[in-house]
Amino acid sequence: MSKVTRTRFAPSPTGFLHVGGVRTALFAWLVAKQANGKFLLRIEDTDKAREVKGSEQHIIDSLKWLGINPDEEVYKQSDRLELYEKKAYELVGSGRAYADNRTPAELDEIRNDAVAKKRPILFREYRPDNPPAWKKGMPLRFKSEPKDYAWTDAVMGQLNTGPEVVDDFILMKSDGFPTYNFAHIVDDDDMEITHVIRSQEFLASVPKYLNLYEALGVQVPIFATLPYVMGDDGHKKLSKRDGAKDVLEYRTDGYLPDALVNFLATLGWNDGTEQEIFTTAELIAKFDLSRVQKSGAKFDPRRLEWMNGAHLRKLSLDELYKRAEDFWPKEAEKADETYKRRVLGLVQERLKYLAELPELTKFFFVDLPADPNLISNHKQLKKLSTSELKKLLEQSRDALKDSDFSQRDLSDKLNGLLEKTGQKPAVLFSLIRIATTQAPASPELSATLAVLGRDRSLYRIDAMLSEVK
Ligand code: GLU
Repeated sequence: MSKVTRTRFAPSPTGFLHVGGVRTALFAWLVAKQANGKFLLRIEDTDKAREVKGSEQHIIDSLKWLGINPDEEVYKQSDRLELYEKKAYELVGSGRAYADNRTPAELDEIRNDAVAKKRPILFREYRPDNPPAWKKGMPLRFKSEPKDYAWTDAVMGQLNTGPEVVDDFILMKSDGFPTYNFAHIVDDDDMEITHVIRSQEFLASVPKYLNLYEALGVQVPIFATLPYVMGDDGHKKLSKRDGAKDVLEYRTDGYLPDALVNFLATLGWNDGTEQEIFTTAELIAKFDLSRVQKSGAKFDPRRLEWMNGAHLRKLSLDELYKRAEDFWPKEAEKADETYKRRVLGLVQERLKYLAELPELTKFFFVDLPADPNLISNHKQLKKLSTSELKKLLEQSRDALKDSDFSQRDLSDKLNGLLEKTGQKPAVLFSLIRIATTQAPASPELSATLAVLGRDRSLYRIDAMLSEVK
């Protein structure tokens, strides 16, 4: 019987979770869900100096928002120190680890010696002659047995290395905590992890790890190494400095979790077709580690906006209304639900993320001061004289006054107006749009006017008329 698939996400609580980190979590989660397996979350908090307060909760909240939920309790390495200690003693017992009480200055001497000899630093060439018996509180170093390795990575393919990359490394630190290099192997074994899915930064260490797996006598899991998520320019690994945002900022900005999941899944993966928009269920069905690209995937925030817009457009008006609840401009506070729904129905087509809602809809709720500069800055309208503008505004007001303000009738009236004035839509409709919305762009004009209604529309045209001087 084949083993139940068990994957894990193992972040260190050293800051907020960003796009690169959460993509790793998502891939591990997709692999587990596809196989009806389990996805685990393990907080790797063994480096107390690098720990950032609040980041553990932030990681948990971010994953929860995205629906990447762990199937078991959240594990924490600091709760598991006894296990690492036990394994450390086992390695000491089998002669595969030794206490390393050398001072930082002595270790520097080793490094300097290697540099002077122009050789890579290999601690195994500088093993202490008579190490003391190890006990907790002393650094413990792995005693490696260098050899060639060949292994298959589910993403990177066939890999092999020579013995020169296998070395002695620290397993336990003097503060009683294990290193990542040691703890993750002990934990992955204890938690019966079948697939180690992690970022590229650990790839070079795999031969060292393979050596330790052997020393511990534990089964080697499947490795899947994910290439970096690259910054927008495609050259450097995405970092906080060049705009890697905290995942929860996307929630604040009104991105849909399903859209972010879709975006992250397609950051370096595709299903072999042109399809870009996937539901989470489709992703679970189709995801395949062997189709993850080997080179870095470029993070393009505009693609994320586009994708979120596509997911927003798929929502029913009811769903969109629920999602939009916290994003309305404050001017919408007193507006009734029917009116807000109509407004939403109009902007759904162009909305990229919900935090755009105030900017896109404010004019539906409040009369903004009529701004003639919008006319004088308009490419076509600025060519018209004041009297031409006034005349057009008057004609518009008179034509619209007789409308019942249904969209169909408005559309007829506007077309009639085009004929009557002999103007192009780009001129006439822009003028009416600017007068009634105080914005150079808005949804389709007759639809916008129908929602705004007679009083607002006519009032605003008059307000603009009195400003055009
Ligand atoms: N704690 C490591 C990190 O945050 C985890 C690497 C792994 O998944 O094993 O980078």
